[in-house]
Amino acid sequence: MNLILFGPPGAGKGTQAKRLQETHGIVQLSTGDMLRAEVDSGSELGLRAKEIMETGQLVPDDMIIAMISSRIDQEDCKDGFILDGFPRTKPQAESLDSMLTEKGLDIDHVIEIKVDDDAMIKRIAGRFSCAVCGAGYHDEFQKPEKDGICNQCGGTEFTRRADDNAEAVTARLQAYHDQTSPIFSYYKEKGLMEKVDGMAKIDAVTEQMNALLG
Ligand code: ADP
Ligand code: ADP
Ligand code: ZN
Repeated sequence: MNLILFGPPGAGKGTQAKRLQETHGIVQLSTGDMLRAEVDSGSELGLRAKEIMETGQLVPDDMIIAMISSRIDQEDCKDGFILDGFPRTKPQAESLDSMLTEKGLDIDHVIEIKVDDDAMIKRIAGRFSCAVCGAGYHDEFQKPEKDGICNQCGGTEFTRRADDNAEAVTARLQAYHDQTSPIFSYYKEKGLMEKVDGMAKIDAVTEQMNALLG
């Protein structure tokens, strides 16, 4: 089963994708996480992406398309994958279609996580993750069970994203409305578009997802 998750920054795509990865045995492919790994490694791609990401703009389509195409070819994707943060533009959606056709694959579900813009600022401002295993947390909505200790790996180091500041978030929301939401009609025409209420509690959103995926 292959899915696409849509939603503005902070909607809960990563949170839900990580849960589906556990329950459905399909792998989360977050283009944001992949790009941050490139930035940390100091690769040429990372160097090109760093400044663009810090300002909340989108990195060029060709970079992303090549990155995701080779990722899908890896062994762990054979039982299915969840695209988190891709496609984000019409050219990316079209390239995804042609690359999947070439690989003999298909998209089974496209799910939009619907949320209010106002709520996003609070979600992003409180977001942090485990520096060791990447588990996601929130200062108010998803605290570690023991203060300062990761639920999953016991790690005690946490990180916050460089682009989770008010200025970059505003630019990212703008990019989502201008460049990403116009793609919905593309998937509506294919009869694939579904949605969940992302303003609900994290567990309730997961239940809605599971109901759609069966
Ligand atoms: P995205 O991947 O869409 O940018 P995340 O999954 O990283 O969003 O979630 C953003 C922040 O909001 C995280 O700190 C997460 O713990 C929290 N969060 C996710 N879903 C919900 C929810 N339904 N209600 C409240 N907080 C949430
Ligand atoms: P969020 O979880 O807040 O939605 P992401 O982690 O998906 O954000 O993306 C972080 C940044 O990485 C984006 O602001 C953008 O600069 C870059 N990025 C990620 N995915 C894409 C993509 N598909 N196309 C272009 N830029 C991307
Ligand atoms: Zn951890």
